[in-house]
Amino acid sequence: MPEIAEVETIKNDLFAAKILSQKIVDVKIFKPSLINTSKKAFVHKVKNSRIINIKRIGKYLIFVLEDKFLIIHLRMTGHIFLKDQNHIFQKHEHIALIFENKKMLVYFDPRRFGKFYLRDDLSSLDKLGCDILSKSFIFDSFYEKLKSKKKNIKTLLLDQNFIAGLGNIYVDEALFLAKMHPEKISLNITKEKAKDLFFSIKKIISKAIKNRGTSLGKSRSNFSSIYEDFGNFQNHLLVHTKKTCPNCFSEIKKIKVSQRTSHFCEKCQN
Ligand SMILES: [Zn+2]
Repeated sequence: MPEIAEVETIKNDLFAAKILSQKIVDVKIFKPSLINTSKKAFVHKVKNSRIINIKRIGKYLIFVLEDKFLIIHLRMTGHIFLKDQNHIFQKHEHIALIFENKKMLVYFDPRRFGKFYLRDDLSSLDKLGCDILSKSFIFDSFYEKLKSKKKNIKTLLLDQNFIAGLGNIYVDEALFLAKMHPEKISLNITKEKAKDLFFSIKKIISKAIKNRGTSLGKSRSNFSSIYEDFGNFQNHLLVHTKKTCPNCFSEIKKIKVSQRTSHFCEKCQN
């Protein structure tokens, strides 16, 4: 579930917690299947490395180490928690990076779909579409890309190789704000409507980041940032998980698009 707003919140919190420039003095791996190398190689390459930058591209969180990149995808239920050195490991806490300042980052993931990739460079992310928070996410190229495809808009917006960062929640919200049906064929979208959609995406994501992401429940599986603190954007959702349209009070419809449940208003979105 963590989408761009949640991963950006985690990244911002890691900067605020002064993780940057920390040296990783120890590594614990309880579930080696979550890393892309052998446990031994991972520990060998990560231990004694310093974190020289923290980035986010799409839904990927990236720790730039001295000569490696640790790329993390949280998938459905991955979390990054900041704990003290006296932390007692609990169920579903699979990996820990321990720092010289006695703090540690703990990777918690009940469903274990997340993954840690240790790479020499970021070329594995080259195929991703434009990150929607990057300066290169501009209307003209977004519109041009829309016009080059003949797919329903929801499928396209969820496709990380089309644009990077959005998932089910924020696509539902952006389409509602732009008054666009999730099954609208991209080729048929007018320039004016495409503009509405482009600015709706920006508006929704910026508001979601200000609200520290969306937590759709209060269990430990739901999104929370590094202090296990929940987001607040669930209180601002207009259509996702809702029963009634806030504009016209019609019943919110649910259909499957790209195997994901889409929430939308038949009257307001066409
Ligand atoms: Zn409506």
